[in-house]
Amino acid sequence: MNILIMGGPGAGKGTMSAKIVEQYNVNHISTGDIFREEISSGSALGQEAKTYIDQGLLVPDEITNAMVKDYLEHLPDLKSGYLLDGYPRTLDQAKAFDALSKDSAMAVDVVIAMEIPFAALAERISGRRLCKSCGAIYHIHANPSKQEGVCDVCGSALYQRKDDTVESLQVRLQEYTRQTQPVLDFYEAKGLVKHINADQPIEAVWASVVGALKD
Ligand code: ADP
Ligand code: AMP
Repeated sequence: MNILIMGGPGAGKGTMSAKIVEQYNVNHISTGDIFREEISSGSALGQEAKTYIDQGLLVPDEITNAMVKDYLEHLPDLKSGYLLDGYPRTLDQAKAFDALSKDSAMAVDVVIAMEIPFAALAERISGRRLCKSCGAIYHIHANPSKQEGVCDVCGSALYQRKDDTVESLQVRLQEYTRQTQPVLDFYEAKGLVKHINADQPIEAVWASVVGALKD
């Protein structure tokens, strides 16, 4: 099954992705995670992407499309499909990905749209903590680690994303409305979108996602 998961910054895409990957044996491809890995490794791609990411802006389409194409072509194991998290995020990306994937085993089967009022996102973003080693996602109130600042899964230190500030969130929300909302309309016209109420406790959101993937 080939899945796209969409939603504003902090809607819970990464949290649901971890659960989907565990249950459905799909390749999790998060463009945000790939960019952060490129930044950590100090690559030329990472250095270029960083200038946009630090400001909350989207990385230009040519860079992002080429990166995703390359990533997909080099997947060591196709597994039972993919879960694309954070891509496509502009209409141009959606069209480029459509041209690449349609009429093939890569075609999108379902789009999970995580819906939540923008007003709820500042609390999610400001409380988010991540494990640098294994990527596990926590929230200081909604989903805290057992020991503050330490990952339950692997024992490594947790960190806060540099772009998880209220200022950056404002820019990311504007980018979402201007650039990503049209992507949802694009897939809506194809009849692929399943709407999920993401403004519920994690387990309730998960139950809705499982229900949507069953239909
Ligand atoms: P995204 O990948 O969409 O940016 P994340 O999955 O990283 O979002 O979630 C953002 C923050 O909100 C994290 O700190 C996460 O633990 C928390 N979170 C995710 N889903 C929920 C939920 N249903 N209720 C409360 N907090 C949540
Ligand atoms: P995320 O981890 O999904 O919140 O993404 C973090 C940042 O990476 C975004 O604010 C963008 O700057 C960049 N990014 C991630 N995915 C994309 C994409 N598909 N297109 C452009 N920029 C992206």
